[in-house]
Amino acid sequence: MRRVVIIGGGLAGLACAVRLAGAGQRVTVVEATKRGGGRSRSFPDSSFGRELDNGQHLMMGCYRETLALLRTLGTQDGVRFQQNLAIEMARPGGRRIRLRCPALPAPMHLVSGLLTMRGLGVVHRASALRAGLVLSGEVRRPDDNETCDAWLTRMGQTTAIRNAFWEPLIWAVLNDDPLICSAAMFMAVLERAFMGTRDDSRLGVPCVPLSQLYVDQAADYVRARGGALRFGAPARSVARAGATQRVLLKSGEALDADVIVAAVPPRALLELLDDVADSPVFQDIKKLKTAPIVNLWCELDRSPLGGAEMIGLVGSPLHWLFDRNVIERAPPRAPVLLNCTISGARGCVDDSPAALRQLLQDELARYFPGPPVTIQRCRVIKEKRATISHAAGTYQWRPETRSPIKGLYLAGDWVRTGLPATIESAVQSGHQAAAAILEDATR
Ligand SMILES: Cc1cc2nc3c(=O)[nH]c(=O)nc-3n(C[C@H](O)[C@H](O)[C@H](O)COP(=O)(O)OP(=O)(O)OC[C@H]3O[C@@H](n4cnc5c(N)ncnc54)[C@H](O)[C@@H]3O)c2cc1C
Repeated sequence: MRRVVIIGGGLAGLACAVRLAGAGQRVTVVEATKRGGGRSRSFPDSSFGRELDNGQHLMMGCYRETLALLRTLGTQDGVRFQQNLAIEMARPGGRRIRLRCPALPAPMHLVSGLLTMRGLGVVHRASALRAGLVLSGEVRRPDDNETCDAWLTRMGQTTAIRNAFWEPLIWAVLNDDPLICSAAMFMAVLERAFMGTRDDSRLGVPCVPLSQLYVDQAADYVRARGGALRFGAPARSVARAGATQRVLLKSGEALDADVIVAAVPPRALLELLDDVADSPVFQDIKKLKTAPIVNLWCELDRSPLGGAEMIGLVGSPLHWLFDRNVIERAPPRAPVLLNCTISGARGCVDDSPAALRQLLQDELARYFPGPPVTIQRCRVIKEKRATISHAAGTYQWRPETRSPIKGLYLAGDWVRTGLPATIESAVQSGHQAAAAILEDATR
């Protein structure tokens, strides 16, 4: 049995803790905040009288590591998955574009879905199919230096299919502008979503507050196996004392361990390490930049979505709208709760909450004609460093699980997982760290 201290109680730290506690290791998680969950958390909001997530999170059926974690925690029913992939987009004026994939084996379900897509001409739909040639290996795959924009041009994608299909998908998956972000990162997701089983491409939406999905149950799981989760316990630094690793907390307390997992974002990691950070690995980490996400939570007098769980807005600075009442199967008289998500929100992250509320009001009128919808209450949540930026050519700066410092392992959605910084990447990174620790213990 090894003593493991994990710094950070976000998804990566919790996934690592659950895996190691399940394998009989003595685990202590130290988390800076009082509630944990990191960038995937919920919190009580008194004006809404309920818990709100820090942002609407979407999953896909191909999130295998995440689904395995949820099954271990017994919370898999907290995510509602579509039967088959379906995406609905609205254009200004209200016209809709609908992709519905039938119950055929992958990738024929997507081929058929694209060919029968409503609201787009056949030329545009056929151009989307050409991109499938990359997945089937018949055309050169993009490398990390090729931008999504360049890749879409190389694949001959029409403006209409870019606006209605590819670009909304790229903003959502990579949280950044298709003009700068890496086509290889996008391809990594397309491959997992569309080249496995039909279920892999289904979208899943959490129907319970995020912290109930992960944090509460993970804490119970680890504690039941003799481990500890300490909230409100920020780490100041990590150091070595002979063969022992030491985590110094900001309170002055020192925790000794055989190995340490740093499951914190890049900037927090560099702060923990100060003087050793001149190794090339840590110099590269310094180069990683971030991209914001802005979420608006609103109570409305009625839902504009007409019974849909989510709708994308083609050509709007606001990307996706989610009707939480439909997602949560709320009783008919419950106040209508709408989420509006803006990915890669560099253009509006500094706008005031009042300006963002007005923007939403104007866009609702532009995309959903008819009697005006009234926003009765609105809360804006800005996550300025929501994810690392996946600009082309930056994957090489992401570190491996085993750091150059003996006994220090790295986890977090931003380490090398082959995936963009997502829930799945975070959980996979935690599992990778646990596997590396168990493997190294037997050497
Ligand atoms: C608004 C928003 C929407 C998103 N939507 C999606 C989505 O739809 N689908 C998707 O797949 N992904 C989405 N993501 C990304 C996803 O949330 C992240 O990839 C994931 O939560 C990252 O988890 P992590 O454990 O790697 O990092 P974090 O969640 O950042 O966890 C790190 C933890 O370390 C703690 N910490 C930091 N410093 C210290 C210290 N010195 N001592 C102790 N603790 C410390 C922090 O408090 C934090 O709890 C979204 C992210 C945001 C912000």
